[in-house]
Amino acid sequence: MNNIQFYNSLTNRLEPFHSIEPNVVRMYSCGPTVYDLAHIGNFRSFLFGDLLRRYLEMEGYHVDHVMNITDVGHMTDGEEDKMNLAAERMKANKKSGRVPEGAVTNPDDPYQIAQYYTNAFLDDARKLGYKIAFEYPERVPRATEHIAGMQEMIGKLIANDHAYVAEDGVVYFSVESFPNYGQLSGNTLEKLQSGAGGRVSVENQSQKRHPSDFMLWKPDNHHIMKWDSPWGTGYPGWHIECSVMAKKLLGRDTIDIHTGGEDLKFPHHECEIAQSCGATGKDRFANYWLHASFLFVEGEKMSKSQGNFFTARDVFEGRVTQSNVHPAVLRFELIKAHYRTNLNFTRKGLGDSATTVRRLMEMRQDLEERSAGEAAQVDLSHPVLKEFSQALADDLNIAGALAVVIPWATSRHSNPHEALGIWKVLNSVLSVAPINEGYEFLDSETVSEESESLMQAQQWCAELDEARREKNFSLADELRTRIKDAGFEVRTTKEGTTIQKTLA
Ligand code: AMP
Ligand code: ZN
Repeated sequence: MNNIQFYNSLTNRLEPFHSIEPNVVRMYSCGPTVYDLAHIGNFRSFLFGDLLRRYLEMEGYHVDHVMNITDVGHMTDGEEDKMNLAAERMKANKKSGRVPEGAVTNPDDPYQIAQYYTNAFLDDARKLGYKIAFEYPERVPRATEHIAGMQEMIGKLIANDHAYVAEDGVVYFSVESFPNYGQLSGNTLEKLQSGAGGRVSVENQSQKRHPSDFMLWKPDNHHIMKWDSPWGTGYPGWHIECSVMAKKLLGRDTIDIHTGGEDLKFPHHECEIAQSCGATGKDRFANYWLHASFLFVEGEKMSKSQGNFFTARDVFEGRVTQSNVHPAVLRFELIKAHYRTNLNFTRKGLGDSATTVRRLMEMRQDLEERSAGEAAQVDLSHPVLKEFSQALADDLNIAGALAVVIPWATSRHSNPHEALGIWKVLNSVLSVAPINEGYEFLDSETVSEESESLMQAQQWCAELDEARREKNFSLADELRTRIKDAGFEVRTTKEGTTIQKTLA
């Protein structure tokens, strides 16, 4: 076994990794909020968790990995109701063809919407080789299945004086009762200004003891998703589900690893720690906190208004590159950069990944033919596997690991049995062998052409804005037509013109 080290967000430094129990890792990842299709940024974060799991398995650990699905109506502790937003988005998704008409018969029914997106998420996740989704679906719990556990923990927090019922009946966690609040994110109570503890509504503030107190249970009889409780019929706050599912399913008060996207560090993970440690009395909820950085698209932060928001199925089904993209290619593209660097998703990068994955597949095919599919037993001290795993042992240095695999995969091996054995071990971590039929490999030349057409269309956008400023409307119309003919939808906003690839 290598000496493994990870960057622990809890201590802000690289630390040697030691599991609590020998050879077992208990790990929790925050999963998707199922009020829309997951985008490729979400999948970057989830696939990082998958890569980590697969690597630890290669090192010989038994990894018990749990990832939740947030399917509760109100998913923040403010007045924002994501399920109302979901109804709007469902209509937009149907209009753009991302969700087939007739898929959800009542877009105002949060249960139907959550169910639809849960299935869509699992479907995409399986295609992307996310092991937990296709091998361990029982380790992907829904929040709505754990309401009783949440109520139990809330009851315990009230009994421990970590939570209280405010005058309006809402149950809040008292951040002042937990001196370590802020240890993960640095947002200690002194630093937090009024209201910084989450998206909290102004009228709620007066009911709280401290502005950063966060909601655990909200009585609300009018909401569609509601459950009876000792504090009235209502629904849970967003953070409590993870504390409850991690403890219940991983069976420990303190777990080894907790992962999520970097935006979850605060308030979500800070609040998870406060709840879990408040309920169990332990110092630590997770020993190692690993956070993945963001995905950018063509150098810009991915956002709907920029028109650069892609779901995994947009990529698979050729709505980003015009030709279909094999899920293994998208997987490779999303895992190939170190998890703590912002990854810039580009069509060019996707094309390069296609070339690499294709090369790896050709290699496998050649080895299978020459060895008649029989792989030799290889031990992990083989130089290629050693170098590969040593790179990953260093805070999951995937770039270093790929620098070993790619040259090896492009050379011809005289012992195909042994090489096939090595290939299988490498693939158990990278998972680039297609588990999906019916997808063609993307051609990198096509992608380069498409990249050029995007750049050209962006240039026309700038010219269009200039023409509008100069009130040259005939030129603006001509440019708009040109952009449309090149396969882009044009949107005019106050900030300027944006484009989006026309959906099929
Ligand atoms: P959500 O479904 O919004 O709860 O997000 C699911 C996961 O995706 C969380 O771990 C987020 O931190 C992560 N995430 C959201 N946007 C991005 C992005 N652009 N790049 C990487 N991860 C993201
Ligand atoms: Zn969580």
